[in-house]
Amino acid sequence: MPVNPDSTTDEIREELIDTVRRFTARKITPIASDFDAADEYPAEIVAGMKDLGLFGITVPPAYGGLGLDLVTYARVVEELSYGWMSVSGFLNTHFMACFLLMEFGTPEQKTHWLPRLASGEIRAAYSLSEPDAGSDVQAIRTKAMQTGQSYEVNGTKMWLSNGLHAGLVVTLVKTADTDPRHKGMSVLLVEKPPGATHFEGLTVSKKIRKLGYRGLETVEFIFDQHSVPVANLLGGKEGHGFRQMMAAVELGRSNIAARAVGVARRAFDESIRYAQQRKAFGQVIAHHQAIAHKLADMSTKIAAARLLLYDAVQKKDRGERCDLEAGQAKLFASETCWEVVQEAMRIHGGNGYSAEYPIERLYRDAPLMIVGEGTNEIQKNVIAKRLLERHAL
Ligand SMILES: Cc1cc2nc3c(=O)[nH]c(=O)nc-3n(C[C@H](O)[C@H](O)[C@H](O)COP(=O)(O)OP(=O)(O)OC[C@H]3O[C@@H](n4cnc5c(N)ncnc54)[C@H](O)[C@@H]3O)c2cc1C
Repeated sequence: MPVNPDSTTDEIREELIDTVRRFTARKITPIASDFDAADEYPAEIVAGMKDLGLFGITVPPAYGGLGLDLVTYARVVEELSYGWMSVSGFLNTHFMACFLLMEFGTPEQKTHWLPRLASGEIRAAYSLSEPDAGSDVQAIRTKAMQTGQSYEVNGTKMWLSNGLHAGLVVTLVKTADTDPRHKGMSVLLVEKPPGATHFEGLTVSKKIRKLGYRGLETVEFIFDQHSVPVANLLGGKEGHGFRQMMAAVELGRSNIAARAVGVARRAFDESIRYAQQRKAFGQVIAHHQAIAHKLADMSTKIAAARLLLYDAVQKKDRGERCDLEAGQAKLFASETCWEVVQEAMRIHGGNGYSAEYPIERLYRDAPLMIVGEGTNEIQKNVIAKRLLERHAL
């Protein structure tokens, strides 16, 4: 999006959000259900996002990005998810990788990667999980052994969103066996040709078939003596990977909260329209108090979820710690979204179960937000730990 240099940040933000809202209405909403049904990658939407500069929203202008804040990012994610949740997933892992480079990258790594990421020339994936390590991130087994000027990587990574189309994969590996385990972990910037399924000892599996979150590929990576230059060690120092990846997860949690608000808002809008058109027992169903109360509860919870989200991202924008707030926003917004979508299905009656209406897709997309970026059980652990620290006797 061309930015007028005389505009204030608020004006740029509002203009961008308005543009994204129109882009969603014109390009995403009309095709979402068909692409979801075919599990088809929406190349045209990704190209449109690139043209709008969405892959560089928070990247500083010095590296070719828009240099906007996290509140703007959250609102953009909300708008895109209103049309189709998968589209917000194209930004999530990419944005976490940009954050890792901006926060921890060496000057050479920033100059090498950020301009191409900001323009969307390459997109990024983010890899923590393995077949036997999800919530317990420190149980990962993928190893990187330094031999001369490169690391030899061996192991299996699981659940890589955007893994096939990405040109950069920020990957958590073990560079040493240590006690505590996290001190032996590092992040490698793994480069590969976008779209390639085999590349010099790196095999990308076929897409994992999923309940929802379709169109965006989720894959498995097998590293077999794959070589990564030592220059691609994030920040140039071993042993900081766990802390680095966890800092990015805070942002991933805000992304999930924002997409949950977007999906829930869509379910609400579909429901309030439907409830004023569908008649039963001589009146529109919105006039049955049971339905009207559902709408009241749905709207109230969505508003509360949005406030929690904005509180978390505003704190992060001010440079304050926000793991408690991001965890609360993710927990509440994702559970709210799941409840709202179920209520939307009830309001739609049989039509809620039909693929002719969007509720069926929202119903399949919503549960991911309970699991993604740390399950809600893990959010409760994080929230409780922080509360107990804060209120220690
Ligand atoms: C569609 C999709 C896309 C994904 N994309 C990515 C990605 O791009 N990159 C990536 O790295 N990962 C990704 N993931 C992985 C995701 O982050 C993990 O699935 C998630 O962290 C949970 O890990 P797990 O599946 O191994 O479950 P487990 O860790 O095996 O958990 C199983 C159950 O046990 C509970 N549990 C575990 N430990 C505790 C505890 N201490 N206290 C209470 N309950 C506990 C969990 O809450 C859960 O209910 C993706 C997952 C999905 C489904």
